[in-house]
Amino acid sequence: MEIEEKILKLIQSKKSGILQNELWKTAKIDSSKCSRIVTKLEKDGLITREQDSSKGTKTYLIKPIVKKEKKAKNFNLLMTRDLFSPCTGCSLECVPENCVRLSEWIYCLEVE
Ligand code: SF4
Repeated sequence: MEIEEKILKLIQSKKSGILQNELWKTAKIDSSKCSRIVTKLEKDGLITREQDSSKGTKTYLIKPIVKKEKKAKNFNLLMTRDLFSPCTGCSLECVPENCVRLSEWIYCLEVE
């Protein structure tokens, strides 16, 4: 495993973050090499790094950036059978009470 991947996996295993001065010890590499890798990971948008001095020494708290998976879009509320709501993208002058397209679509909802 490449060292950069190893460092990234270590960071990703600590959702609440890991201190940089713990990271290089855990990864068994020297601090300057760790710093270069962390800087690259930060530039690549894979981690965040903020200063931390909670344990008396200045270091960085490194956290993984968790990318949210895109949810599949659910168009079910806009559809009946295979028909989209006629209002989707409609640019007609709208008077819903008199709209034949809407009435037909609602009728399809009722017969399902
Ligand atoms: S009600 Fe009729 S006119 Fe109004 S947006 Fe829907 S389809 Fe278009």
